[in-house]
Parts: sequence; structure tokens; C-alpha cells
Amino acid sequence: MISVRDDLRALEGYHSPQVEVRVRLNTNESPFAPPDAWREEYAAAIADLDWHRYPDRNATKLRTAIADLHGVDPAQVFVANGSNEVLQTLLLAYGGPGRTVATFEPTYQLHAQISRVSGATVVEGERDENFRLDPAEMRRVLETYSPEVTFLCSPNNPTGVVEPVELVTELIDLAPGLVIIDEAYVQFADWTALDLVREDRSMVVVRTFSKTWGMAAARLGYLIGPSWLVTDLEKVVLPYHLDAAKQVAGTLALGHVAEMERRVRAIVAERERIAAGLALHDIEVIPSGANFILFRPRRMGGRALWEGLLARSVLVRDCSGWPRLADCLRVTVGTEEENTAFLDAVAEVLAAASLVRSASES
Ligand SMILES: *Cc1c(COP(=O)(O)O)cnc(C)c1O
Repeated sequence: MISVRDDLRALEGYHSPQVEVRVRLNTNESPFAPPDAWREEYAAAIADLDWHRYPDRNATKLRTAIADLHGVDPAQVFVANGSNEVLQTLLLAYGGPGRTVATFEPTYQLHAQISRVSGATVVEGERDENFRLDPAEMRRVLETYSPEVTFLCSPNNPTGVVEPVELVTELIDLAPGLVIIDEAYVQFADWTALDLVREDRSMVVVRTFSKTWGMAAARLGYLIGPSWLVTDLEKVVLPYHLDAAKQVAGTLALGHVAEMERRVRAIVAERERIAAGLALHDIEVIPSGANFILFRPRRMGGRALWEGLLARSVLVRDCSGWPRLADCLRVTVGTEEENTAFLDAVAEVLAAASLVRSASES
């Protein structure tokens, strides 16, 4: 029998349980579907597709719409099936055997995963105890390993931490190779690294339609970077990888920016309500610039709280067993009703736990 490549044997793959629950707040999706107007436009456009023809290999309309949104040239835009495929294409082009990739942990697990699958060696820098990028550690990693690729996720998943512009600029200046800034959640934060993209810099900003745009089902992501880099990626990616329906879906979505921004404001307001609600309890809340919040109960185990929430049909992400995240859980901001159900369930579980505790103490 064929066996998997030696270097892949220890890899576990990516797991996020898909469980049927009443309140599902575990995968950072938008709680809002795209606007009805978009659905109608999409249905009409799909009816006219030339299904017997290959799609536009350059995705010209979609790339132009994305370029217009950000005030860049379409030649600086690379689009793929989710930002994860953007990352995979970057690693195929610039990672691979004999090359080194740096991450700063804890961060999005797929950065290291995709790098390893490409055959690259991953070196992990450590963040400080508040999950922030530490300037000294950043310099140490870059100087010691001279990585060909350096990842930075800001706002970071799963912590929600937004790195300051000074530090990101320093990282870009110091990094010897490519810097990938993953901005999957940036619309919920107060600044973007897009303005730092330059033709003479090995640096890209990666975005997705999965979170802000409420289109996780569409699998659509992109990067903004120097045009020579986009040309490199086109050598690597499969021909016609972006199907025609998806190109239409994305192009039409970009006609609804104002509606998207309204939803982002609503989610940010709810995020702050959840943060305040959690802080009423004995819970550490990590300040977030994303559509989720990382938190850690102080008087009970994270796993026990997660189980208590699941028993009340509320599913959040259990990070409590992940390295560096002992007892931490991550909740995605949902609809107002979902968030209230989550906060009520937290209060119930904590109250039940403290009853048990006082009974055992007396
Ligand atoms: C959700 C997420 C993505 C999105 O991946 P898609 O493939 O676009 O759905 C990318 N990066 C981070 C950090 C994420 O959390």
C-alpha cells in the first residue's frame, strides 16, 4: 500500500467540529447572510452563464472590482478559493522543501499547517503573556532563522489582538523574505496594512469573503501585493481554478459595500456588549479587534465551561487544550439573540459551578 509522505505522517489535519446546536458560535462566520438584493442579482446572473465554456482564467471583472474597492491596480490582485488557497499558493511559490517559515504563536493554525504540507520547515516565535507580538522576540526569530516567509495575523486568530502599525512596519523592514499579513478580520479593527503594500516590497495583505462578507459558503479570498508576485502565483495555481459562478458571486457582492459596513458596525457593537457581559463575571477577556472574543474563566476550567455551554446547546470554540491557551475559549459574535443566549448560558454554568464549590467548601 502507498503510505503518506514521511514528513506528513505526524500532521493531524484541520479539525473544527460541525455539531448540530441551537447557538453556533465556533467558526467566526458572519451571523448575517448576504443581502436579498445580492441573492436576486446572483440568481439572474447565473441563469445566463455559459456553462459549456471554461471561466475567465484571469477573473478580470472580479479582480477589477476588488482593485477598485482598495484603490490598487488589478495586476496587484490575486484571487483564489478562500484565503486558505491564497496562502497555499503563496507557500507553493515561496515555501517548500529547504525553506523556512516563521509564525508567532499562538496564531491561526493553518499558517503552520499549510507551510508544513508544502514541505517547508516552520519556526515558531512566541508572543508575550498578553498575546502581543514582542519586538525582541520578533528580531530574534528573524535574525536567527532568516525565514523565507513570515506570517502575521492581525487581528490575530484566536486571540483577537491587533498589532500596532509601528511593529508591523518594523517586521516588514526586518524580514529578509516575504511577509504575509493575514487580515481575515481587519474590517472589525481600526487599521489595515494595505497602505504598506508597495511594488518594491515582498509583502502581501490577505483578505477573505468568508467573515465580513457573510459568504463562507462561496470559498473566496484574495491578496493585494506587488504585481510581480501575482505573476509568480499565476505560474503555480491550477488553470481555471476560480469557477464562473464564484467570480459572479464575488463581483456582485462588491456592489453592496455600504450594507456590509453596516453589518460590521452592528457586529462590533455586539462584540463590545459580549465583552462587557463576560467581564461582569470572574473571566479574563482579551481585548478584540475581530468578530470574536477569546476569554478565560478564572474559577473553573475552560473545558468544563465549554461542556456546560454545549449542554445548553451553545457551541463555542474550545481552545483550552491548545498550546499556550490553557483554559481559553473563543466565542464568535452572533446575532443579538444568539449573543444573549450565550451570555445567559455562561452565567448559568458559572452559577452552577460556584454552588458546587460552596457545597464542597462548607
Ligand atoms: C477564517 C480565516 C481565514 C479564512 O479562510 P477562508 O479560506 O477564506 O475561508 C483566513 N485566515 C484566518 C486567520 C481566518 O481566521
